[in-house]
Amino acid sequence: MARTVVVTGSTSGIGLGIAEGFAKAGDNLVINGFGSEEAINQAVDRIGSLGEGSVIYHPADMTKPDEIADLIATADKTFGGLDVLVNNAGVQHVSPIEDFPPEKWDQIIAINLTSSFHTIHHAVPLMKKAGHGRIINLVSAHGLVASPFKSAYVAAKHGMMGLTKTVALELARHSITVNAICPGYVLTPLVEKQIPDTAKARGMTEEQVKTDVLLAAQPTKQFVTVEQIAAAALYLASDAACQVTGTHISIDGGWTAQ
Ligand code: NAD
Repeated sequence: MARTVVVTGSTSGIGLGIAEGFAKAGDNLVINGFGSEEAINQAVDRIGSLGEGSVIYHPADMTKPDEIADLIATADKTFGGLDVLVNNAGVQHVSPIEDFPPEKWDQIIAINLTSSFHTIHHAVPLMKKAGHGRIINLVSAHGLVASPFKSAYVAAKHGMMGLTKTVALELARHSITVNAICPGYVLTPLVEKQIPDTAKARGMTEEQVKTDVLLAAQPTKQFVTVEQIAAAALYLASDAACQVTGTHISIDGGWTAQ
């Protein structure tokens, strides 16, 4: 039977790949995130064509608790419940702490951490009522280890690990699992665009930029793909993963083994 899946921040990159993965599995999707009306309409049509399920778009801004409440309520109203919640929306800002703009700190904590409190807060009553549920948090290697100049991002992602474990314990007797996926570097369009400029600036080939700059921390020297992350999300949402809760799956080419 088709599940109902909400993926926050799914108009681009990893979230889009996860939405596509669930759509191919025949699920109903609520996608969310920013983008032009045309691009979003095209994404809804394309994701909808991948499987038997239906796809709707909700424009909730993950900094706005009322809009997040409406996102979850809309999933329930449209599809009659919520089976899988994927907390994926996230942003980054890189700066030494003394120069880090306080408003950027607030924005990153709001989108990368607090929004997941709100989605989970509203999703859990629906999942408890149904007697099952899956909550999957897109965290990062930066939920487990730090890098300099990413104070807000690393703090938010470590916070997401704590939220994941706490809610998993609260829901353990309700057939609702809560887990994190911790990717290393994923070649999203955002990262791809930086490569030619960095190569020019450092006098390197594009391949050297990938292996020696972007993938400096990643032993395999290969990027993680959105399809690999979507496969892990589908596993965590499956019946086979019913005893996997309060933990994380690292997909980081060995980064956090060091
Ligand atoms: P991306 O920039 O390609 O996509 C981010 C998505 O979030 C977009 O759909 C965007 O519209 C949406 N978004 C941003 N602000 C929002 C807001 N206020 N409200 C609603 N939606 C909003 O990024 P990505 O690389 O696909 O990252 C997705 C998640 O994976 C993030 O949580 C990120 O931290 C995590 N992650 C990414 C990488 C990587 O290397 N790309 C590695 C580890 C973890």
